[in-house]
Amino acid sequence: STTSGRYIKGVTLGEGTYGVVFKALDTLTNRTVAVKKIRLGKYKEGVHVTALREIKLLKELHDPNIIELIDVYPHKRNLNLVFEFMESDLEAVIKDRNIVLSSADIKSYMQMTLKGLAQCHKKWVLHRDLKPNNLLIATDGQLKLADFGLARILGSPDRNFTHQVFARWYRAPELLFGSKQYGAGVDIWAAGCIFAELMLRRPFLQGSSDIDQLGKIFAAFGTPRESQWPDMTSLPDYVEYQYCPAPPLRSLFPMASEDALDILLRMLTFDPKSRITAQQALEHRPVLLPRPPTRPEGKSKPA
Ligand code: ADP
Repeated sequence: STTSGRYIKGVTLGEGTYGVVFKALDTLTNRTVAVKKIRLGKYKEGVHVTALREIKLLKELHDPNIIELIDVYPHKRNLNLVFEFMESDLEAVIKDRNIVLSSADIKSYMQMTLKGLAQCHKKWVLHRDLKPNNLLIATDGQLKLADFGLARILGSPDRNFTHQVFARWYRAPELLFGSKQYGAGVDIWAAGCIFAELMLRRPFLQGSSDIDQLGKIFAAFGTPRESQWPDMTSLPDYVEYQYCPAPPLRSLFPMASEDALDILLRMLTFDPKSRITAQQALEHRPVLLPRPPTRPEGKSKPA
């Protein structure tokens, strides 16, 4: 059985959405770990038990692109989640001007993100709060998704202003229109925004409020027509926006390849039902131009 005695507490790494995160040594394995202390104090009786049971299910999400949840244990009024320790995250990479991101690097980061997403979505787990700072990066360059499933299990507890702002930029249009029946598409939208951010080296759609966020999305892709997204008008917070034409996507991403723009557009598709899935995105190959077969030597001109 696990007790908090297993870990030797180290420095505080930061304060996150759910509580403080500190570095620790796992004396059982001699590994460095990150312990996320989740305050449950304000929750009703019974939430502890439910949260604990559901979080334990996350331990089953074994994948090279999902951060390993090593251990979960209650301590006083907290729930402590023990994760493998990661050196860096994608936000730090994007912001570090000394790091050159080639198109091969961007492709590789996207592939790792999509692989992690595909694995979770296969098991019906959504992330719901994907952003560059919860794509963690190991010393060997491996990217792993962090905080999977926590948003649904724990809700979004008194998010401070900073958290709210950053999360908004990656929020899918159906969420901004108040959809309650959203699915895996919300993670794909966020991944598309991250893809764009890797190319631009700055956040793509920086809304200053939820309304402004939709405005930024429509300025980039045009206001959606009903034919493009039939369910839009029945969403709880739907409001009609002034018509705005879409500028050519190429003008926003002058350096991107055709393939990159194509996949970006499929990830940032308005209707979540038409949006590409993680698995489809991984299998996506640009359609090759039909090319006439090479004629065998000497047979090209019959006598
Ligand atoms: P947020 O809720 O904003 O996503 P987190 O709670 O995930 O933040 O993390 C808070 C801080 O702890 C961040 O500075 C993050 O870099 C650090 N951190 C979180 N998980 C790990 C980990 N597995 N390894 C190393 N540092 C981590």
